Amino acid sequence: MKKIAVVVFSGGQDSTTCLIHALPLYDEVHCITFDYGQRHHAEIETAQRLAKQLGAKVHKVLDASLLNELAISSLTRDNIPVPTVNSSGESLPSTFVPGRNILFLTLASIYAYQVKAETVITGVCETDFSGYPDCRDEFVKALNKALELGMEYKLQLETPLMWLNKAETWALADYHSQLDLIREQTLTCYNGIMGSGCANCDACNLRARGLNGYLENKTEVMNSLKGKLSLS
Ligand SMILES: [Zn+2]
Repeated sequence: MKKIAVVVFSGGQDSTTCLIHALPLYDEVHCITFDYGQRHHAEIETAQRLAKQLGAKVHKVLDASLLNELAISSLTRDNIPVPTVNSSGESLPSTFVPGRNILFLTLASIYAYQVKAETVITGVCETDFSGYPDCRDEFVKALNKALELGMEYKLQLETPLMWLNKAETWALADYHSQLDLIREQTLTCYNGIMGSGCANCDACNLRARGLNGYLENKTEVMNSLKGKLSLS
């Protein structure tokens, strides 16, 4: 039987790294991108371009705009400022969209059921925890169980980046010889600027710190990555 995986794909650093990591491991990789009225439509276009360029078998863009009707966040509303490096606080960041990963992983799993994929891959990560409760390992495992029960279907929600720090995520891109592609062609910035971004928002700051961390200690970070993911 064909091994098929579905990657929840935004065209950002993390999900693109998940895609390049998955491609050699499966017979078919499908990407699924959710259009929920992101502030920056460039995100959808970036995802479309990268999925095609990297060799995803199918790229599905699903309308999830109902999320925008329900959930208010600075990622979906122009009049709420995105957090910058100086705005950190105790509470959840304004970029938090409540329920987003519950919805996305559920829809991706329904899609997986339809195409007989056994795996859904998501780039969520607990290590650089930005305060999003639906990026936690405990949440993903609980949802995995609920989905299997609810669909009576054997499914694995894979989270290859869960225990990696940002420097190790860069090392994973380099392991697959795609460091430059991730660096120059992915879109992570909250202000919608490709590559190294605006250099001011939280996402750009995290991305830049991780890249510097990797470039300064390449061998050490690569070894740590290989240990965590059992790579040779
Ligand atoms: Zn930025």
